[in-house]
Amino acid sequence: MAILLDGKKVAARVTAEVKEALAGLKKGAPRLASIRVGQTAAMDLYLKSQARLAGELGIAYQDEVLPADATQRQVEDVIAGFNKDAATTGIILQMPAPAALRPEALRRAIAPQKDAEGVHPAHLGEVVLGKARVAPCTAAACLEILKHYEIPLRGREAVVVGHSEIVGKPLSMMLLDEFATTTVCHIATSEAGQLEEHVRRADVLVVAVGCAQMIKGAWIKEGAAVVDVGINRSAQGIVGDVEFEAASRRAGWITPVPGGVGPVTVAMLMRNVVELLKDRPTA
Ligand code: NDP
Repeated sequence: MAILLDGKKVAARVTAEVKEALAGLKKGAPRLASIRVGQTAAMDLYLKSQARLAGELGIAYQDEVLPADATQRQVEDVIAGFNKDAATTGIILQMPAPAALRPEALRRAIAPQKDAEGVHPAHLGEVVLGKARVAPCTAAACLEILKHYEIPLRGREAVVVGHSEIVGKPLSMMLLDEFATTTVCHIATSEAGQLEEHVRRADVLVVAVGCAQMIKGAWIKEGAAVVDVGINRSAQGIVGDVEFEAASRRAGWITPVPGGVGPVTVAMLMRNVVELLKDRPTA
């Protein structure tokens, strides 16, 4: 049976480090502004855990809710307001945004000095250079989990399924920096009927698609490390992108869903808030 990669444990360690870093900073009070367009139950859950952890760390958390039919311009105006507001030290735009909006343009609108999610092109560029202090939270969370459990990466076959700008793409760059031999799979890999073949080779498998249990347990290489980013609502409750039970019988390590990547993502968000704070003038 696989060893559980316990996200809560990793998050607790990162949170303790963030707390310590904050205590030593004389950069004024951190304040994270959350912007959400429309309200969904899924978002509420994520938001609650952000607000809770921010409270625990003494980071002020502002929840700005826009109507679901807000225009691109309206959202950009709200972002511009927070960019200008000296008391706001970090900004997060909650996803998913309504289909009428263009998330990439909204990410660009956030000042890089306040981009707590690490998804502005300036931060993504630093990821490519291997120098990111503020990296996309979820991608950083996956690597943090692998490192916490000292899972070997150098020279290993890493397979990332999903190539989104905020998870799959940056994570594949981070894994390359760890000298893993990295393959990225996406929709066309599946269309070509080659997904299973790639997954079967993976010593380290990270799946970030958003399709319930699409990765079959039987595909997992014996002893592999499996990081399941997916969050899917199903009749059985929240499930990941990997068939957990069957995969656990073959894998060496595996993240549960929930309780795996999710809590670490929130901790990495707070770490980013503190990293951004470090660049501000001393208070
Ligand atoms: P996106 O929808 O932006 O990206 C999904 C990716 O999966 C795309 O690259 C897409 O490829 C690819 N894909 C879709 N279908 C297939 C398929 N059949 N085979 C292979 N690849 C496929 O999602 P995100 O990256 O934002 O999120 C992914 C999942 O992770 C979601 O379930 C989300 O809820 C969850 N998530 C969890 C977080 C956490 O903290 N635990 C944080 C963020 C997200 P293409 O673009 O080519 O169609």
